[in-house]
Amino acid sequence: MSNLPAPLRKSLTDEFSILGLALADLQESSDGTAKFLFELTDKNLVEAVNIPAARRITGCISSQVGCKFGCNFCASALGGFKRNLTRGEILDEVLYLKNNLKAGQLTHIVFMGTGEPLDNYENVLSAIRLINSPLAFNIGARRITISTCGIIPGIKRLQEEGLQIELSISLHAAVDKTRSQIMPVNKKYPLEALIKCCHEYIEQTNRQITFEYILIKGFNSDVLSAEKLVTLLKDLKLAKVNLIPANPIAELKIFPPTEREILLFKDKLFNSGINVTLRKERGQDIDAACGQLRLRHG
Ligand code: SF4
Repeated sequence: MSNLPAPLRKSLTDEFSILGLALADLQESSDGTAKFLFELTDKNLVEAVNIPAARRITGCISSQVGCKFGCNFCASALGGFKRNLTRGEILDEVLYLKNNLKAGQLTHIVFMGTGEPLDNYENVLSAIRLINSPLAFNIGARRITISTCGIIPGIKRLQEEGLQIELSISLHAAVDKTRSQIMPVNKKYPLEALIKCCHEYIEQTNRQITFEYILIKGFNSDVLSAEKLVTLLKDLKLAKVNLIPANPIAELKIFPPTEREILLFKDKLFNSGINVTLRKERGQDIDAACGQLRLRHG
C-alpha cells in the first residue's frame, strides 16, 4: 500500500495484524478429524482440531499457550505455562477452522484444546460472546462448551453470566486421593467443595453439567471406582458423565482399559440411574490428544 504515508504504514505494521496465527503443521485422520498446529506472532505454538461427526462439525480450540495446572495425563502441560491467548487469537482459531473445512459448516465450539479456559476468563468470555453473536460467527450458545479442570471461582463467576453455554468438568476420579494423583488442582479445589459448587451452579442456571471421566487402565476404571462415582454424583439434579477411554500416550505410560472393563464401568453407572455416554475416540491415527502435536514440535 505504497500510496499510504510511510509513518502510517509503519504504525499499521507495528500495531495491527490480519490473522494472528499461521499454520505450522496439519495432521488429518482417516475418520476426517483434522488437527492444526498454529504458530502465533511471538512463535509460540497452539493446537486446534476440526472433528466432523454425523450431523455436526466441532471445532476444539485452545485458550492458553501451555497450561499451569499440570494434569499428568495431559501432554499440554508438559512444556509448562507460557501465556494467555488474547481474544483475537482465540477468534482467529475459530476463523481458521471455519475456513478450512473439507465440507459443511462449523456447528459447535469446545474449549478443550490447550489451556484452562477459566484461567483466562475475560478473553475466553469475550471471545464466546462474539462466537455466539449473529454479527460474527453466529454459533448458538448451547453449542459452545467450556471445559474446566474444576476452577471453583471461575465456575461461580460463570453462573452469574446468564449465558446458555455448556459446562463440562474434568473429573477423572471420584475420591480426592486418586484425583489429586493425576490432577494437582484437586488439592486446591477438592471434590467436596467442587460438587457443592456444581449444586449451586445447577440451581442458579438450570443447566446440566457434563463430567468428563477418562478411563485409564489400572488406575480408575474398576467397578469400585464406578461405585464411588455414583455416590459422588447421585444427588446432582442435572448431570451427565461422559466416559472417555484414554488416548494412549506412550511418553506418559497411559493406556485405555479393555473393552469389557469399559462396558462394566458404563453399566454400573447406567444401572445406578446416572446419565452416561461413552465417547468414541477420534483421530487415533494422528497425535489427537491435547498437546501431542505441539509436543512433537517442541
Ligand atoms: S487437562 Fe486441561 S487443565 Fe489439565 S493440564 Fe491439560 S489443559 Fe491444563
